Amino acid sequence: MSTLKLVYSDNYDLNLGGHIFPSRKYKLIRQRLLDEQIAGELEFLEPHPAADQDVLLVHSADYVRKLTTGTLEPWEIARMEIPYSPEMVRAAWLSAGGSILAGRQALKEGLAVNLGGGFHHAFPDHGEGFCAIHDVAIAIRKLQCEGAIQRAMTVDLDVHHGNGTAFIFARDSSVLTFSMHQENNYPLEKPPSDIDVNLHDGCEDEQYLHLLRQNLWHALSEFEPDLIFYLAGADPYQEDQLGGLSLTLAGLQERDRIVFAMARERNRPVAVTLAGGYALKVEDTVAIHVGTVRAAAELIAS
Ligand SMILES: [Zn+2]
Repeated sequence: MSTLKLVYSDNYDLNLGGHIFPSRKYKLIRQRLLDEQIAGELEFLEPHPAADQDVLLVHSADYVRKLTTGTLEPWEIARMEIPYSPEMVRAAWLSAGGSILAGRQALKEGLAVNLGGGFHHAFPDHGEGFCAIHDVAIAIRKLQCEGAIQRAMTVDLDVHHGNGTAFIFARDSSVLTFSMHQENNYPLEKPPSDIDVNLHDGCEDEQYLHLLRQNLWHALSEFEPDLIFYLAGADPYQEDQLGGLSLTLAGLQERDRIVFAMARERNRPVAVTLAGGYALKVEDTVAIHVGTVRAAAELIAS
């Protein structure tokens, strides 16, 4: 029987202090997975930071230099909306390494989770919306470069549109970008993904899950990816401070099951990243992410 591998580092914490992005969530998720015996210590894999040359597969040399040498302009840090620190940069590089590792592991086992990553608002030459570098895009390009995959698909169910992802892969027919998000929310400008499912404010479980089934089924029928990166944002939750949808905890759990079951049905490996989550109570955000891991663990064991 396969067991689900979970990529994690204590240094995923972005060192943000009292910021609305609860970057201590990573440690809390790990602890809860252990407490609930969804995973044991042996299931955790420690990632290496991505190599600069891997980051450069997506990002401009100038931007990477500014990040690594602490020479971003104040307005560039303001656009990123998180404080700059060497720990933040280390966490970003580690998250990218983590997504590469989760991708490799998913290719071996069918399913793997990076308990971090999903920084889908990062662009080649700048960061925004709490995202410094685009871990998923780096992982896709890296796995393509080493010949592990040819075609990839992103399934982005964070409440916010995957603008960085859409921009990076706009003219790349080897990567299908799928984003299902609240239309009236950040980012203001949404460069088109290959498939955008725009949701109205307050969308509830039933309609959300119907649209997901329909659109994901269609996408997977049209495009046969060698690997899917699933950005399992916790922020479509009804009590999210930065989201305006009305999904329940049960609805989010069903969302995850649908993604994993559809991928399994078509024999497509899935690497999960966590992306956003800003519930009023951090334990709700943690519960949603833990639910995603539980759904993945149940599927891989079945
Ligand atoms: Zn988000």
